[in-house]
Amino acid sequence: MTAAPTTPSATTPATAPALDTAYFRRWIAETNRLVRRDSARLTELDAVIGDGDHGANLVRGFGAVGAAVAEQRPATPGALLTLAGTTLTNTVGGASGPLFGTALRRTGKVLGDTGAPSVLELGAALGAGLRSVQKLGGAEIGDATLVDALAPAVAALSEAAEADRPLREALDEAVSAARAGADATEGLEARKGRASYLGERSIGHQDAGANSVALLMEALREAVDAPEVSLAPEEPAAAEPAVAEPAVAESAAAPAAAAQPAAKTRTGRVGVVLVSHSKAVAESVAALSGALLGSVDPAPLAVAGGTPDGGIGTSAELITAAARTVDEGVGVALLCDMGSAVLTVKSLLGEVPSQLPEGTRIVDAPFLEGAVAITLTSAIGGDIDAVLAAAEDARGYRKR
Ligand code: ADP
Ligand code: MG
Repeated sequence: MTAAPTTPSATTPATAPALDTAYFRRWIAETNRLVRRDSARLTELDAVIGDGDHGANLVRGFGAVGAAVAEQRPATPGALLTLAGTTLTNTVGGASGPLFGTALRRTGKVLGDTGAPSVLELGAALGAGLRSVQKLGGAEIGDATLVDALAPAVAALSEAAEADRPLREALDEAVSAARAGADATEGLEARKGRASYLGERSIGHQDAGANSVALLMEALREAVDAPEVSLAPEEPAAAEPAVAEPAVAESAAAPAAAAQPAAKTRTGRVGVVLVSHSKAVAESVAALSGALLGSVDPAPLAVAGGTPDGGIGTSAELITAAARTVDEGVGVALLCDMGSAVLTVKSLLGEVPSQLPEGTRIVDAPFLEGAVAITLTSAIGGDIDAVLAAAEDARGYRKR
């Protein structure tokens, strides 16, 4: 009987939707669609100056993000992006996993529990995400990486928002800027990532990661008018083995850590984790280190080699589980080989709250020499500082 208030939607049917949780669900769906559509092209770009896994990495990563979002149903854009970032870091066995993962997680954290950020707020949060990627990977604009597409896209979005441009226009600007940035990597020499191994020979080829940033931006624009994403009813995706959920990783890691005593004392030894792209490499380096110890009682040592499905890559899930297995309460030393292994370890160390045991540190040393030095130092009871110092020594050992 009381007068019904007129809803804004009744009078403004054609306005852009809010950047709410439903919008970001559509963004994930659109990203999945576009990444699958362009997977072959991304892989081709990566094959010329990298290792040809970029398309597959993104298809796997964003597929896992879609499953995680459907299962956990994050309630805010911030929570959704944070979940997306964590899932990417955990499921992509290449550099792009921790890089895109860190960007999205940071963006989500900055959005906090806002129900629907403004375009300006989204631009600012993405700016923080961009800075976190640069901090993690060390790339500047002009190094021919994904930063060359992300930086101009974020700037364009923020500028358009500041000028009060409508949402669709602001996103159009961001897409064009990302596209132009990705195109321009063709004329640049790669200075970060695998492509940098080619030096000047990388000139003349576009960077794969910059192209995927352009796709992610395109998905942001497509999500404005895309149909609502229907989430599977109830059914938790329990049968999905590849997706590690950090919140329950403690119990998930329990079988691997079964040999650990429940109560941790401060009298233990420093744990050692060898992180390699290859399970075989990690295991054989561990075996050689053990053999060189002679009769010394070996330190707690675990390997995190390759991806959970046995492929070549790095897995945050395996690293976390391994670190917990070897934790005796006095610190854990993580020694990794290169590229995405380093990035994944650094991004795990930067997570708040951390899933790694207290006192976990990254070792800066060559893989084999470092492994021998740290396993010996830990075995003889050296503390975490002594273990890291031994590794530093191994780094300075010259062969010529
Ligand atoms: P990988 O290089 O481990 O095979 P991907 O092929 O999935 O991983 O991703 C490669 C992309 O990651 C590159 O095209 C580049 O855009 C980006 N990338 C690699 N290293 C860095 C870095 N240090 N900083 C920024 N971006 C990087
Ligand atoms: Mg690659």
